[in-house]
Amino acid sequence: MSLMHDVVNPATEQVIASVPSSSAEETDAAIARAGEALSSWREVAPGDRANLLRAFSDTVRAHVEELAALEVANSGHTIANARWEANNVANVLAYYSGAPERLFGRQIPVPGGIDITFKEPVGVVGVIVPWNFPMPIAGWGFAPALAAGCTVVLKPAELTPLTAMRLGELALEAGIPEGVFTVIPGKGSIVGQRFVDNPIVRKVVFTGSTGVGEQIMAGAARQVKRVTLELGGKSANVIFADSDLEKAAATAPYGVFDNAGQDCCARSRILVERSAFDRFMGLFETAVKGVRVEDPALATSEMGPLISQGQHDSVSTYLDGSVPVAFQGTCPTGPGYWFPPTVLAPVTADARAFQEEIFGPIVVVTPFDDEADAIRLANDSEYGLSGSIWTRDVGRALRVSRGIDAGNLSVNSHSSVRYWTPFGGFKRSGLGRELGPDALDAFTETKNVFISTDD
Ligand code: NAD
Repeated sequence: MSLMHDVVNPATEQVIASVPSSSAEETDAAIARAGEALSSWREVAPGDRANLLRAFSDTVRAHVEELAALEVANSGHTIANARWEANNVANVLAYYSGAPERLFGRQIPVPGGIDITFKEPVGVVGVIVPWNFPMPIAGWGFAPALAAGCTVVLKPAELTPLTAMRLGELALEAGIPEGVFTVIPGKGSIVGQRFVDNPIVRKVVFTGSTGVGEQIMAGAARQVKRVTLELGGKSANVIFADSDLEKAAATAPYGVFDNAGQDCCARSRILVERSAFDRFMGLFETAVKGVRVEDPALATSEMGPLISQGQHDSVSTYLDGSVPVAFQGTCPTGPGYWFPPTVLAPVTADARAFQEEIFGPIVVVTPFDDEADAIRLANDSEYGLSGSIWTRDVGRALRVSRGIDAGNLSVNSHSSVRYWTPFGGFKRSGLGRELGPDALDAFTETKNVFISTDD
């Protein structure tokens, strides 16, 4: 009998569910079942595996409203975002349902025979998910893994297990066989650690903090276990004076305050060319004060609460008076972990708020002198996940894009995640890439076979 763990609505502080906190023994039993299911799942004919993934996608799509409502209640995501997130799971499953029949090997010319390669499933995959995007991050791991013929055990974050647990039920409803995709709620130090230590798991996909990612990589090294790591970020939004400053200022709040800033891709450092700094700040203040922070279940809501009291405490430490608060937006008072959109400016690169991932609705604004200075400041970070560049000069957009050490950049916009393009980080933001056409490489081993044609 598992211990139970309360799940809280961050907008109301009410307990909304109690879920099992799985033990190491229960985790090992689920991993063993995933190991047993592997031999039959990898033998499912490619077209049949594709059809099962399509059925899973259709089942998720039919439950988008239910999943979205669950995410609003469990994570405080705005209803508009939560619908996008549930649809993202369906879209990612549909995209990778095209993969089983396209898992091509190669035929390489050699003397004396034929040389061919196969893409073999890596085995049982453990997916460890953080609390900030419970549905999409789960799907980015399990969908390509299942398509590659791997079986999956998945651990949601302690704070936000509800949608992942429902996705596990929907997989069974859609006809995915028992043991092929199992959701195991529980603690990182118990369930997540078993994914690292149990030798049946051959690959760990981890998304979360850089500190835990380092531990997972070190633990996996003992078994030469494969890892994909998607870690923290401190991305720059670089705004040149020749840009459409109105548009850059109007969109900047949404580039950082979406999901209350609890986004690894948050553009939490705004770098502005000095000659445009004052004009930008005036426009930006209007935009920040216009962000609607309210009950995330309302269709008009643009930002909900932080995930927990602990996160609220951690974010609050950045308002310690060491850097000036330029202005703040508004947020509800009363129950819930609310925090107003907050702008710190001007901030120099040595400030803690410039260097550390705050993971809340706080942004720093820093002036720069020229293109080289902008690239230097953008790269003055241990992270390298995402970023934006605003300019009307195409050559500059490309030079700066090539100059910034980050995995996902957008010019004159803040979009960074499309399921059909690769996603991942440079430096301490991670290792490997998810999504896009090559994601199956992360879940397969290349096998080379030589067949002699000698008599
Ligand atoms: P976290 O590292 O505390 O936890 C992430 C997951 O790891 C949770 O499921 C947790 O239970 C588990 N875990 C904790 N200790 C573990 C251990 N010893 N062994 C195995 N698993 C363990 O991170 P968080 O606070 O949930 O998430 C926020 C962090 O995630 C931020 O730093 C953010 O930038 C990062 N993140 C990165 C991306 C990306 O794609 N790069 C996306 C989302 C979030």
